[in-house]
Formats: sequence, structure tokens, C-alpha cells
Amino acid sequence: MAKKGLMIDYLLCTGCHSCEVSCKLEKKLSTGAYGIKLAEDAPWQIDEDTWEYKWLPVPTQLCDLCEDRTAEGKEPSCVVHCCSHCMHYGDLDELAKKMDELDRKAVLYTI
Ligand code: SF4
Ligand code: SF4
Repeated sequence: MAKKGLMIDYLLCTGCHSCEVSCKLEKKLSTGAYGIKLAEDAPWQIDEDTWEYKWLPVPTQLCDLCEDRTAEGKEPSCVVHCCSHCMHYGDLDELAKKMDELDRKAVLYTI
């Protein structure tokens, strides 16, 4: 079977934290434990009227790619709940192709 992974096009991430929360609920994680954690590099000022915001959701070692859900043919919880549709689950080869098509950087994660 092809190796699976998560691809996160973080340029579209709005920093909404839904991935963190949905993962905590799905995996029943305790306070302070995360399967995915939002790193924040914001805000920083470009010029007088322009501010830049960057959020980078990073899966942790507690992420098992939602093996229970995907074994039932469902998408990972974080992918389902991402409001910006910037998280993708699938075969690593397919995700790598998708990354190549993007004109920007993304994160590819697997276990
Ligand atoms: S794939 Fe599942 S375990 Fe991994 S970060 Fe997303 S919700 Fe959490
Ligand atoms: S759910 Fe999607 S948009 Fe929200 S913080 Fe996570 S990756 Fe970003």
C-alpha cells in the first residue's frame, strides 16, 4: 500500500486553530498535548500600512494520521475541519505532485 501523508499549504492558513481543536477532540488529548500545533510568526510590519501574518500548523509525534478514521475510509479530522481547505491527506506521491504544482512552499508530513 502507498505511504500516506498530510500536505499543508500554509500560505492559505488563517490561523483559526480548528485543526488543533479537532485533533484534540478526535484523539482525546489532555491539556497541553497536541497532535498538531500552530506556530505563529506574526504580526510583523512591512511598511506603514502593511502587516504580514504567517501561521504554520505543524503535526507532532502524537499525530498518527488519524489511523482509525482513515482505516474506515474517512479523512483525518483536521483535514475535515480546516476552514481554508489548505490541508490534504493522501498518497505521498500524489501529495508531492500537488506540492510541485504550487508556486510556493508547503509542508509534507508522514509517519
Ligand atoms: S491527522 Fe489526525 S492525528 Fe494527525 S494532526 Fe490531523 S487530526 Fe491530529
Ligand atoms: S484548520 Fe486550517 S486554516 Fe485553521 S489553523 Fe489549521 S491549517 Fe490553518
